Formats: sequence, C-alpha cells, structure tokens
Amino acid sequence: MSMIEFKNVEKYFGNFHALKNINLTFEKGEVVVVIGPSGSGKSTLLRTINGLEMITSGNLLINDQDIRSKQTKLTEIRKNIGMVFQHFNLYPNKTVLENITLAPTKVLNKSEKDAADTAESLLDRVGMLDKKDSYPSTLSGGQQQRVAIARGLAMQPEMLLFDEPTSALDPEMIGDVLDVMKKIAHEGMSMIVVTHEMNFAREVADRVIFMADGEVLEDSHDVESFFKK
Ligand code: ADP
Ligand code: ADP
Repeated sequence: MSMIEFKNVEKYFGNFHALKNINLTFEKGEVVVVIGPSGSGKSTLLRTINGLEMITSGNLLINDQDIRSKQTKLTEIRKNIGMVFQHFNLYPNKTVLENITLAPTKVLNKSEKDAADTAESLLDRVGMLDKKDSYPSTLSGGQQQRVAIARGLAMQPEMLLFDEPTSALDPEMIGDVLDVMKKIAHEGMSMIVVTHEMNFAREVADRVIFMADGEVLEDSHDVESFFKK
C-alpha cells in the first residue's frame, strides 16, 4: 500500500482547472521535490493531501482512506501529515516552546513535561534551543521557519509537507533552513517539498516531479539525469 495515492484527480477553483488528471503515489521514506513554474498547481497538490483544499473529482487515498469519505477524519490525517508553510504561521502570542508543545498536549494528550522535553530536544536539533522563551516576532524569518519545522516534527508525523519553505526568506537565512531539512531527510523522514531550490533538489531528493499548467509532466527517480537535461 502506498502512503498517498492520487487517482485521476481533478481540482477546479470555479472554472479554473488547477489540477489535471493527477496520478501519483508517494511511499513512506521518500524525499520528493516538486518543481515547476509559479501557478502550476504545486501548492494546490500539497494542500489537497492534508485536506486544506478538497479535490473536485477522482480519488485521493491517504493510507488507503479516501479523503472525501465521510469516515475520514481530517484531524487524523493532519496529525499524521504535517505541513510547513512559506509564511511560517507560528502563533504570535505564544513563545517558541509553547508553539511546539501546544498540539502535542492538546491533540496527542501528552503531559506538559513530556511535551516540553520533546520540544527542547527538537529545538536543539534545529539550532533554536536558546530562543525557547522568545516570541516569534522577535525572530528572523529563518529562525521562525526552523521553529515551524520543529513544531511539525513534534507531532511525530509519518510525513512532512513543505510549501516553498525558503521563498519568503532573506538569502542569508536560506542555508540554515535547508540544512535542517537535509538533516531531517537523512534521518528518514518522508517529505514532499515544493521548492525553487534546485541544489537542494539535486542533493537531497530521491525523486523529482515537474508540474506545469496543472499537469504532472515528469516524475523521475533519476534525479541526477533529470537535472542534466
Ligand atoms: P503554485 O504552487 O505552482 O505556484 P498554486 O497551486 O498555488 O500554484 O496555484 C495554481 C493556480 O490555482 C494559480 O493560478 C492560483 O491562482 C490558483 N488558485 C490557487 N488557490 C486558489 C483559490 N483558493 N481560489 C482560486 N484560485 C486559486
Ligand atoms: P503561501 O504563499 O503562504 O503558500 P499563497 O499566497 O500561495 O500562500 O496562497 C494563500 C491562500 O490564497 C491559499 O489559501 C490559496 O488557496 C489562496 N489563493 C491563491 N491564489 C488564489 C486566487 N487566484 N484566488 C483566490 N485565492 C487564491
């Protein structure tokens, strides 16, 4: 069983055809990079996976559960598949530590102590432990994004989705965020990453998907050859 399976998926926004006959599977442990011009449907593809956008037709199965079935609980899917956004989306009125412990205590019913211990070790991994008591607005974009990644990992998801995680960052911040993503990838996390960072794709991806105009034009496991073309 594939972790994620798109079968003949279409997505319309009104009359606008954003995803065209998508047939893709994603497996546990894969690091997949999705590239393509702006407006080609990359973000929409990601957002359908955790139910931020609903597909118009076709089937989308997450661990064999149809995303449109009444029995499917989106909260369960989002527990299992985390998302890192371009604009970080941290809670502004919570400290860095609280941003990370919130969901594990509320959704996973972890104790405060347990959640805080996990949060501290994750903050250490992303190089942000010294900022645990700071508020997001006092951090740089790159620092906020590393906190957002730690927050995603705190839910112990099966997969993390990244929607242009470095596109809103000043150039000097990008390297730190990509380094954290590389580390997570090497630790075996399943990831789908929408990005314009071709060096990251070349170095880290097991597979590259190229989209244009709502269609998947290429889906290659031979990442090296893909970039030689
Ligand atoms: P990409 O991530 O490749 O830049 P998107 O998936 O964000 O592309 O968008 C694909 C197309 O769908 C764009 O033309 C965008 O304007 C349109 N689109 C995305 N979300 C919506 C929406 N909620 N309503 C209407 N159009 C949308
Ligand atoms: P981000 O940059 O944080 O990934 P976007 O700016 O791509 O987010 O999109 C933010 C929101 O606006 C999304 O919910 C997306 O679906 C919606 N959106 C994108 N394009 C359009 C559009 N052409 N019309 C209406 N909504 C849109």
